Amino acid sequence: MRAEDIKLSEIFSQDPGTGFPMFGTQRMIMSSLPAMSQLMQQLLALMGPEQLAGVLSRYGYRIGMTAALNIASHYEFDSPREWLEASRYIGSMTGMADARLEIHHFDRETRSLRFSVTCQSSFEVGCWQSIELDFTQKPICHIFTGALSGFASVVFGSEVLVKEVACQAQGHGHCLAEGRSASEWGMSPSEVQELWTQMELKPFEKEMEILREKLKKAQTDLSTHQEKIRRLEAKIHPGSEGSGIIYRSTRMKKLMLLADKVAPTQSTVLIQGESGTGKEMIARYIHTHSGRADHPFRAVNCAALPAALLESELFGHVKGAFTGADSNHKGLLLETGKGSFFLDEIGELPLELQSKLLRVLQEKEIRPVGGLDPVPFEARIIAATNQDLKSRIKEKLFREDLYYRLAVFPLTVDPLCERKEDILLLSRYFLDRIQPGHHGFSPAVVRMMETYPWPGNVRELKNCMEYAVILAGQDRILPEHLPLSVSSEDPLTAISHDLPTFRELEKRYTRLVLKNTHQNKTQAARILGTSVTTLWRRLNEMGM
Ligand SMILES: [Zn+2]
Repeated sequence: MRAEDIKLSEIFSQDPGTGFPMFGTQRMIMSSLPAMSQLMQQLLALMGPEQLAGVLSRYGYRIGMTAALNIASHYEFDSPREWLEASRYIGSMTGMADARLEIHHFDRETRSLRFSVTCQSSFEVGCWQSIELDFTQKPICHIFTGALSGFASVVFGSEVLVKEVACQAQGHGHCLAEGRSASEWGMSPSEVQELWTQMELKPFEKEMEILREKLKKAQTDLSTHQEKIRRLEAKIHPGSEGSGIIYRSTRMKKLMLLADKVAPTQSTVLIQGESGTGKEMIARYIHTHSGRADHPFRAVNCAALPAALLESELFGHVKGAFTGADSNHKGLLLETGKGSFFLDEIGELPLELQSKLLRVLQEKEIRPVGGLDPVPFEARIIAATNQDLKSRIKEKLFREDLYYRLAVFPLTVDPLCERKEDILLLSRYFLDRIQPGHHGFSPAVVRMMETYPWPGNVRELKNCMEYAVILAGQDRILPEHLPLSVSSEDPLTAISHDLPTFRELEKRYTRLVLKNTHQNKTQAARILGTSVTTLWRRLNEMGM
């Protein structure tokens, strides 16, 4: 449906029990302009104009966010663009302003969004004008622009900021606001700062900074402890169990023999293999079986970060090297010390960083971004890729000299379909970890699992086991408990063995959706065809 087809009377209702006004499933309150005006006046006296602008923007942001989710749970729009168009109704619906929206550019792929909003009779202008303060210096419709930011950010799926450029309170004929995605604002430091001071309270920001620092330290401690546990486990259970690498196949035995041989040496290792085959586990195995085991193991996925961020994450930077570099940053390569550094998806490393990495490997020293003095580099590099690096060399996407530096000792992890003997062993291992003491599989399940090609390899097998346990619970796993791709059976057959109640089924399915959306309530609510509020209520009722 299109934004223009929205019918206000369908979204606004009165709760039949209490008589409360409702917007979708959300209770609303009614306030009057003089009452709001008094509240704002008191808040202004309490916190001053700048902090108040921040508080009001955040309050508006929340209104816009909820409105976007609410309206989407009520209507299915033809496109996200139509959904954004619908924001113009929020102004009149909430009594904020009579707004007109014009979208100039909307492209979620490239994260670029531009729109402008003109509005008449903003209630905020009304509030302040009745106090008769002089606000001719700056626009004052913070709740309204906050609400548009919140609404658009939800629709666009990434941060959108709306700035008022002219306000009726300043004597203009109408208010005019400009909305853009973060990148479209260019994110120059002064602009960002100005926008964020509008959005966040200062004490809150400081608190976040402290929490971030604490989190970082806790993560470092955790990974050190995990490393220790892994080493101890390896000592207690020599062989496959302790390393977490489970195998029986001849191909894996050969690979592990090679890993054992290369581990104690200083050689750079390149691990090749399809994604999901467990390349990082092999890298960790090499690390724990090397003389570097008491030093850190650090990993980075080259495909996960944009080039500029990856560069400073890897090589570090000095204070003032670029906008936002307000302190020295050591970089992951140096933080690894004498440990092992795992570069996953090395084929995706941008060419300019390839040259930089090559220099590090050749000269054994690192020059942080913006820094003059090189720092000695002592860690061992273990790289991994699921790409054919030789063909990337031919396409001029990967440096040949770097390839030969990395592939001093190449290892290849075979796809799961080429080592069928490992499938049952791995399945039992995962099953035991997910649900200790579980009753196992029916023979038909074993057959299905051994004939399925597992394009997602060990990772897919692990997910498959989690899925099966959700459906089967403690019971023996039957073909109908396997994901459709593996069992290729009708989904209804999957529940035919225990015929759960509708309520129980709803619970299992909700859990499955939450798992697949990594507990993202907004996404889960969308998949379940409900609002976030309703989802929260249901989770509460189900005791989840
Ligand atoms: Zn205004």
